[in-house]
Amino acid sequence: MPFTAPLSGADPARQSQRLPRRIYRLRMLGMGLAALPVGTVLLENNAAWSTWAWLVFTAVLWPQLALWLSLRHPKPFRGEIRNLLFDSLLAGMWVPLMAFNLLPSVLLVTLATVDKISTGIDRLWYWSLPLMLAGALVAGAATGFELRPATSMPVMLACLPMLLIHSIAVSQASYHLVRKVKRQNRLLDELSRRDTLTGLDSRRHWQEQATLLQDQCAETGEPATLMMIDIDHFKAINDRHGHAVGDDVLRATAEVIRHSIRGQDCAGRLGGDEFAVLLRGTDLVAAEIVAQRIRAGVEALRVQSAPDLRHTVSLGLAKADAAAGGLRAWLETADRALYRAKSSGRNQLAIHEGPQPALAAR
Ligand code: GH3
Ligand code: MG
Repeated sequence: MPFTAPLSGADPARQSQRLPRRIYRLRMLGMGLAALPVGTVLLENNAAWSTWAWLVFTAVLWPQLALWLSLRHPKPFRGEIRNLLFDSLLAGMWVPLMAFNLLPSVLLVTLATVDKISTGIDRLWYWSLPLMLAGALVAGAATGFELRPATSMPVMLACLPMLLIHSIAVSQASYHLVRKVKRQNRLLDELSRRDTLTGLDSRRHWQEQATLLQDQCAETGEPATLMMIDIDHFKAINDRHGHAVGDDVLRATAEVIRHSIRGQDCAGRLGGDEFAVLLRGTDLVAAEIVAQRIRAGVEALRVQSAPDLRHTVSLGLAKADAAAGGLRAWLETADRALYRAKSSGRNQLAIHEGPQPALAAR
């Protein structure tokens, strides 16, 4: 019985090369442990020399042959699947060869199936069942289907190492797999929260944060301001300097935003050259100071890949109570203010204070 670790989830090319050697060690261990109860039964049954020879083949020669076969296979992974199925055939054969001795027979068939399931290979265990049956029929036909199902105490004891070590090995493999899945889930979660270019919050995560903050403000009456920021004539920057420089401009602008706000605020890239910042516990007067700091910071920026390039941003501000209609309405009011800043000449900010957004001086 090779104690197979789960195979799914790793890089198939690398797995293909490492798999046969890994399974070789597990097969040696599994077959060695299985030989203990099988050998004990053969002793009790005064088995023929040919049955003993088959045990030597199963426990000693087959693991070497399996490694050799899968390494010379054009696709070692596929070769190893064939070997795993042959393991099942062997397990099936040993049931009649042990004269259906109950405990080791059940153990062999169960563990051979568990091994196939724990590989994670689709339907491998399912395909191993007819092979086990075929093995049992062939070996049974050759030996006359002798029936001695009673399991003696020595055979029970000989089964224990296989039972214990196999269970621990399979549990350990599952434990490592669960840990790996957890790590990858955390990584995926982190990736989905971040905008990969700027490292700011992704649009989706930012929207979740904004909705939460809105609910808090509605409950506590705490002030909060939404700031929309858009790079001026960004398309022209891309056209003139190329997309790589455009990306540097996005990254540098995001850095200015990040350094101009506090840890409790949250900044995200909504898409393209548009950013949004939630300023917690901040009224419009305080938010205007932050907005001016960002505007001036961007104006003073120099991007290494295009030292002569100067770029600016326009900003729109809206306070939380302008958002009675939910996040969408809050974004729309801030966006209207931003539009006003753009249409008034750019590189400035506009504040939505009432039905008409007021324009703040540069
Ligand atoms: P305005 O001053 O009115 O904002 O003009 P604009 O040119 O900045 O506005 P527009 O929306 O026309 O241009 C945004 C450009 O941003 C268009 C698009 O090609 C570019 N863009 C969007 N995403 C990326 C990106 O990830 N990297 C780069 N380099 N460019 C991007
Ligand atoms: Mg723009």
